[in-house]
Amino acid sequence: MNKDRTEKYIELTQPPLAGYLEDIKERALSDGIPIVRSSVQGLLRFLMGYAAPKNILEIGTAVGFSALLMHEYARGAHITTIENYEPRLVQARENFAKYGPDIELLEGDAAEILPTLESGRYDFIFLDSAKGQYISFLGDIVRLLAPGGMLVSDNVMQDGDVIESRYAVRRRDRTIHERMREYLKEVSDSPFLESAILPMADGVTLSYRKRD
Ligand code: SAM
Repeated sequence: MNKDRTEKYIELTQPPLAGYLEDIKERALSDGIPIVRSSVQGLLRFLMGYAAPKNILEIGTAVGFSALLMHEYARGAHITTIENYEPRLVQARENFAKYGPDIELLEGDAAEILPTLESGRYDFIFLDSAKGQYISFLGDIVRLLAPGGMLVSDNVMQDGDVIESRYAVRRRDRTIHERMREYLKEVSDSPFLESAILPMADGVTLSYRKRD
């Protein structure tokens, strides 16, 4: 199955986004800023409506597209989002000031910010930052998730490399390959999580924090 065509098809079947989201998406795509693909946009819309989370944490804001998407579809939720790259922060600040003034933007490295956040506070966490760091964030993420809370991790298939042997992967991608495999094993085996790995977009995991 051709993944790009599938994404295009999914995009065409989805109800249109609000005008400001379309504008932010178009600008991000033309500036080469990575944002969630159409199928993941659909998944987030669905989960916002279905699970109606009240306290959302996003790791990896970029210019704020996915945070604003969740804000649009989880009305009344408090959204906290973390980003550390100044050129993207400039646009994220502008976008939130206009379209999501109640979104809390934490500026800095998630590795330093996550340990400072309150345990059990979040009923929905969207992990969409540097893939090589997912495994090192997982301990904090499990601590931050409320019982029953959901974790969605994007881009876990590393453009398909994850399923290949280490030797089939370019040498410079091997560290991420190893870390992502470790992440998938950990979310699957963790006694605190129940997880499913979905081969959609560039791979997504859905996990929830088991109730003790
Ligand atoms: N979620 C965004 C969306 O769909 O609109 C896209 C996020 S983009 C794929 C990943 C972002 O994570 C980048 O803007 C990058 O600068 C940020 N990032 C990567 N590592 C980070 C870290 N350790 N702390 C904070 N932000 C980080």
